[in-house]
Amino acid sequence: MIIAVDGPSGSGKSSTARGVATRLGLRFLDTGATYRAVTWSAVEHGLDLDDTAAVAQRARDLRLEISTDPGHQFVIADGADVTAAIREPRISEVVSKIATNLDVRKELIRRQRSIIDNAQPSGGIVVEGRDIATVVATDAELKVLLTADQEARMARRGAQVGSLTAEQLRDQIVRRDADDSTVSEFQVASDGAVTVDSTYLTLEEVIDVISRLAKEAVPQGQES
Ligand code: C5P
Repeated sequence: MIIAVDGPSGSGKSSTARGVATRLGLRFLDTGATYRAVTWSAVEHGLDLDDTAAVAQRARDLRLEISTDPGHQFVIADGADVTAAIREPRISEVVSKIATNLDVRKELIRRQRSIIDNAQPSGGIVVEGRDIATVVATDAELKVLLTADQEARMARRGAQVGSLTAEQLRDQIVRRDADDSTVSEFQVASDGAVTVDSTYLTLEEVIDVISRLAKEAVPQGQES
């Protein structure tokens, strides 16, 4: 089973998708972490991020290990544990530049599909990102577009990251989504996707809704 969870920044995709995976005993893939890891590596190598060919080559060369255990997330890039480093504002500020590089996308989509395939024997996977339902896993049994009002998304990200100015927060949510929208459609639901608006729901309530939808999509006894 594949559950695709797409949506804008701060909609709660990551916590929600991880929670659903834990609840249903599935694997979990945070595809944003793959874009962040390539960004981290390109910055570490001192690459000009506008040099699309050099950055795409870095994406192909990078040794990337990403955990699909919802209870123990880590990202190892070229042997370095970058789990925390990829969340730093210096990475968030420039990640869209890497994510709009179409050759980087091609390489990371290939890797994401391989991780998804490898998870199938253990029952399935919840995959979160921007283009999961539309590109990465168009055959997902359940497709969810997770939304929330812009004010709620900014408040959540502020509480998560802390120590960000209002301007940095706006940059991380509004500007980043605008840039990301140029390569992925995650503002409106794609064909067959269910929209879940999390503005007035707690995390537990969103996890409940999606877990219920997943059980309806694959009734008991028909999992395989
Ligand atoms: O979800 P997260 O904020 O960690 O994603 C980081 C960035 O990775 C996004 O801003 C976007 O540029 C990119 N991304 C993407 N496609 C995905 C997941 C993330 O382009 N499926």
